[in-house]
Parts: sequence; structure tokens; C-alpha cells
Amino acid sequence: MDRHVMKKKKFYLYKKGVVLCLITIIQRKCDKIVMKKQENDEQMEKKFAIVKNGAKMEEKAKDTMGGGRMQYEGQICRAPMERGSYMLPVAVGCSYNACKFCTLFKHLQYRELPIAQIEEELQRVKGLNGRPRRVFLGDGNAFGMKTERLLKILKLVREYFPDVTEVNMDATVTNIQEKSDVELKKLWEAGVRHLYLGIESGLPDVLEWMHKDHTLEEAYTAIDRIKRAGMIYDAHIMTGVAGRGRGTENAEKTAEFLNVTRPRHVINFSMFLHQEAPLYRDIEQGNFLPADELENLMEEKCLLEHLQVNGLKYDGFHDFVQFRVRGTFPEDREKMLRKVEEAIEKNKKERPVFAVI
Ligand code: SF4
Repeated sequence: MDRHVMKKKKFYLYKKGVVLCLITIIQRKCDKIVMKKQENDEQMEKKFAIVKNGAKMEEKAKDTMGGGRMQYEGQICRAPMERGSYMLPVAVGCSYNACKFCTLFKHLQYRELPIAQIEEELQRVKGLNGRPRRVFLGDGNAFGMKTERLLKILKLVREYFPDVTEVNMDATVTNIQEKSDVELKKLWEAGVRHLYLGIESGLPDVLEWMHKDHTLEEAYTAIDRIKRAGMIYDAHIMTGVAGRGRGTENAEKTAEFLNVTRPRHVINFSMFLHQEAPLYRDIEQGNFLPADELENLMEEKCLLEHLQVNGLKYDGFHDFVQFRVRGTFPEDREKMLRKVEEAIEKNKKERPVFAVI
């Protein structure tokens, strides 16, 4: 073979080697990409499984509420700070059930659950090695039950779960009025701590129009009494409850009420109206003009500016526009205000939204 042909062959072999090398490098790179993708997919699958599992757990939790296990009727609705508490149903629905904006229990006939059924539920949770520290008695206004019955339930809770440090529940002002100071004290001694009161507004005419079961004066007295008995008062309020054009007025008056009564928590479930609510009929007939979400946010801003309760924990929800603001007074006031201001600016650019479904 002459030198020229040898050189050509060497060059050909060299080129072939380079190409093979390149192919190997590209293949390895591709393998890495594929492996990475597989890893990602696996991770995604795991995450998805966790989410699905979570959903399943929720389903299971819902499931365990029926079929001979925990029996729950109605919509679970409680303050966010009670979400970690063990929800023990003691009644179905709300014994008052007349607030114009509320549809939570309208379809349910109020009734108290038999003590045997409540005990069965406690047994069930104990059997699952449950060790709750906080218990929330459901439903709408559990504090409205007769003191004797409440004491019986509280005794059972203590027997099954001696580690429980507090038993909390929703209450109306009337529920408190119906109990003597001695009864309130006994209930506190038996473990009742937080009472969540539907204050809603600081405007007397709004309370009347919405068919709340209290006047402001009655609320002042009732709150004073439960506090003297040692209980902790928490307030549910509702921006938008006074209707269009009255947001600022409602914020100022509600803040005035809260500044005097000094709740531990304020939960603002900004008005979110269902078409089944009696108030919706008023809207249809033109008797009530709803405020839009922009006005509700502006009302909330005004409320946050006027609240003067040190240590107060605030949690405000505008579910319709998926906005939530929370914090503790006074240290988080500015941060909360900035967040609400941002939401206001954002909503100014949108078309008016009404929280009605
Ligand atoms: S007291 Fe509470 S649960 Fe009962 S109707 Fe009024 S808002 Fe609804």
C-alpha cells in the first residue's frame, strides 16, 4: 500500500473515531436527559400521589362521618384557628337559623344529638388512639344547649381525653343571655374556653335588618359576662354586611365595638352570599344593594386602620377574589394594610365583582 493510501485510510479511521465519540457523547447526554426526565416524572408522580392521598384522606375523613361512624350533617364551618381541633358534633344545625345572609343550616331541622351517640364518637376516636388537646363542639351554636347537657358532654370529653386543655364552640349573644353567671362559671370550670360570637357589624340597624339575634347593647353585656366567667371571646365579623356605600361607616362602627370588647381573634368572612339566602330575595327586590369586592376590601382597610387592640389576631377572607390577610396587632398592621392596598389597586383595574353564587 503506498503512503498516500495509508494516510487516507488513517484519516478515514480518525474521522470514524471522532464521529463514534460524538455519537457516544450525544447518546450519554440523551440518556442523562431521559433519566432526569424519568426522575422528574417519578417525583411528580410521588407528589401527585401525596396530593391524591391527601384527597383520599379527606374523602376518608368525610366518609368516616357517615356509615355508622362519625355522623355529621351539614357544612363544617368553623374559625380557621379551630381547624386543628377535634370536631365533636353535639347537635345538627343552628337553633336560631334566622340570620338573613346565612345558608349554612337552612335545610336542616335543628336537633341535639343523643348523649349515647356523642359517647360512641368519643369511643371511636379513642379507639383510633386519638389524643386531642383541643375540642370544638359542633354545630352552629352549641353553646345554646342547656347547661346541664353541656356539662355532661364536657365531663365525657374529660373522661375520654384527660389531656384536653380547652373546649371551644360557636355561640350567639342570646345563648349567653340564657345562662346565669353561676352557669357560665361552671362551664368555664368544666373546660369551656373560646366562644366564637357572630358579631357581624357594629351598626344597630344592620343587625336588625340582618335578623341577628342581638342588639349592640346586649352584645356588650353578654361579652362582659363571659369574660368575667373566664372565657375567651372571639368575634366573627363580615365586611359588606351593611351593603353598598356603607363600607366605611360599618368599618368604623365595627372597629369601635371591637376596641371596647377586645376579642382575642377577629375572623372576617367577608360577605359571600348564596342565592338561597333570604337576603338574596332582598337583592332581587331591590331592598338591599350589595357592595362589590372592591368596596369590601376598602372597608377592610378602614377597619384595620381603626382597630386598636393589642394582641388581637386578625384573619380576613375574601373567598370570592381569593384574598386573605392575617396578622397580629399592632405589629402586623402596616404589613396587612399594604397587602390590602395592593389588592385594592388590583381590583380597581377589574370589572366590579359581587360575591354572590
Ligand atoms: S347564628 Fe350563625 S349559624 Fe345560626 S343562622 Fe346565624 S349566622 Fe347562621
